[in-house]
Amino acid sequence: MAEQAYDYDVLVIGAGPGGYVAAIRSAQLGLKTACVESRETLGGTCLNVGCIPSKAMLHASDYFEVAGDGTMAELGVEVTPKLNLGAMHAHRLDAIKGLTGGIAFLFKKNKVDWKTGHASFIDAHTVKVGAETVTAKNVVIATGSSVTPLPGVEVDNAKFVVVDSTGALELPAVPKKMVVIGAGVIGLELGSVWRRLGAEVTCVEFLDEVLPGMDGDVRKEARKIFRKQGIEFKLSTKVTGCTVKGKKATLTMEPAAGGASETIEADCVLVSIGRRPNTEGLGLEAIGLEVNKRGQIETDHDFRTKVDGVWAIGDVIPGPMLAHKASEEGTAVAENIAGLTGIVNHAVIPSVVYTAPEIAGVGLTEEQAREKGEVKIGKFPMMANSRAKTNHEPDGFVKIIADAATDRVVGVWAIAIPAGTMIAEAALGMEFGATSEDIAYTCHAHPTHSEAIKEAAIAVTGKPIHM
Ligand code: FAD
Ligand code: NAD
Repeated sequence: MAEQAYDYDVLVIGAGPGGYVAAIRSAQLGLKTACVESRETLGGTCLNVGCIPSKAMLHASDYFEVAGDGTMAELGVEVTPKLNLGAMHAHRLDAIKGLTGGIAFLFKKNKVDWKTGHASFIDAHTVKVGAETVTAKNVVIATGSSVTPLPGVEVDNAKFVVVDSTGALELPAVPKKMVVIGAGVIGLELGSVWRRLGAEVTCVEFLDEVLPGMDGDVRKEARKIFRKQGIEFKLSTKVTGCTVKGKKATLTMEPAAGGASETIEADCVLVSIGRRPNTEGLGLEAIGLEVNKRGQIETDHDFRTKVDGVWAIGDVIPGPMLAHKASEEGTAVAENIAGLTGIVNHAVIPSVVYTAPEIAGVGLTEEQAREKGEVKIGKFPMMANSRAKTNHEPDGFVKIIADAATDRVVGVWAIAIPAGTMIAEAALGMEFGATSEDIAYTCHAHPTHSEAIKEAAIAVTGKPIHM
């Protein structure tokens, strides 16, 4: 119950997958809870302009592509697809409406008070929301992140020429030529959407490989697959400026290591070079809370900041900027506030790129694992998996990395049509401390893509059956 002195036991700032989960879990645990959100709808970046709308466009554009590229004809289904971009956008908006409305329903059901407005601290237990002042025993900062700007390349989502991820979800027409700055997750997902719908896509990446942070083999193989699908890459290249004339942009770029510059023209430029934590205007100075060099709020293992009664979770704190990581932290912080033991195992957070095929991983990359000690690796190609072969989905592989001495699985990586779904098995196994032998001797249903995980596990110490 709230102490007399406070309006609430818990006030959560931000209603993204971190904040809304923290609010619901707090309320479920009997704490009097409110959640402040500056957007008109709940769900944060993820539901409004992130995970959900991007997956809506990826799913629909994948149907368009497979209907038209001969894949379906090979299976005996002949169709000639016709793009109705308006209907595709309506499908995206419908998905957002349904899911954000669902969170509003859950707030009501769990008796979470939803407050609309920008929140800023007056002191550690007092927050200003518009004209209102709200007090709480515990305040959870779950303000998320926003697009990192690129100096010299000004985003104007209203004009659809130079856009960030939010603008790239809403393009009213398929651009003829699209240049994506940054071959990370957003660049490859949204670049794939518009390539499938007919754009010529070039990806300019500062590093010498795509998808930083992922396993080396996976990064290389992923680039080969995207290249085969028609995305051009300019690696080790940095964009230094952009001029816009009417509906055309001209980008200036040069080798990352320095050298002669060149230009490239585009009808649409997507700036996707990362995201940065949202702390501006939050009044952190009023409570003496500083951010680290990357602009993040530091917490301890329990998600407490150094200010008593103030907690933080999600994209605004260190760690991968992923919705499910934010949600796990949301549950854990609520449990810790309620006096229970909320824990997040940050060593086992899966990540997925929702392209076709999907690219997924959990745990250490081979490079990271080798730095820690000796490893054994098992790999199995999707081409040798009966279901993938039957479905004409030959691209990709599963790779399992196990500790050489204990056989304990320390990382699993997969490129496969349903890799995002397959990786859940690996995460579960790793949570339970599985060895590669445990996975190799687990019966997997046939015919499934997941049998490739079993075969890769067999390959760690022995010989897979189907190779
Ligand atoms: P957010 O979702 O950013 O929510 C924070 C909320 O706080 C926002 O709604 C903001 O308006 C509000 N806020 C901020 N400051 C204040 C304030 N002072 N007062 C009141 N309200 C405030 N992750 C995945 O795991 N899978 C994906 O498929 C995926 N796809 C993505 C696609 C795109 C295009 C983008 C941009 C991101 C994607 N992400 C994905 C990342 C994911 O969206 C984030 O990791 C996740 O939303 C972080 O959750 P959060 O709760 O920390 O913050
Ligand atoms: P990212 O960090 O994944 O990729 C950014 C890329 O831009 C990197 O490869 C980086 O080297 C490159 N880059 C940086 N500066 C550059 C420059 N000046 N010129 C050229 N390249 C440059 O960031 P993102 O793709 O913007 O995504 C942001 C966050 O959103 C990520 O942390 C990701 O976790 C999250 N997200 C997740 C999903 C998913 O889980 N499927 C989908 C979308 C976004």
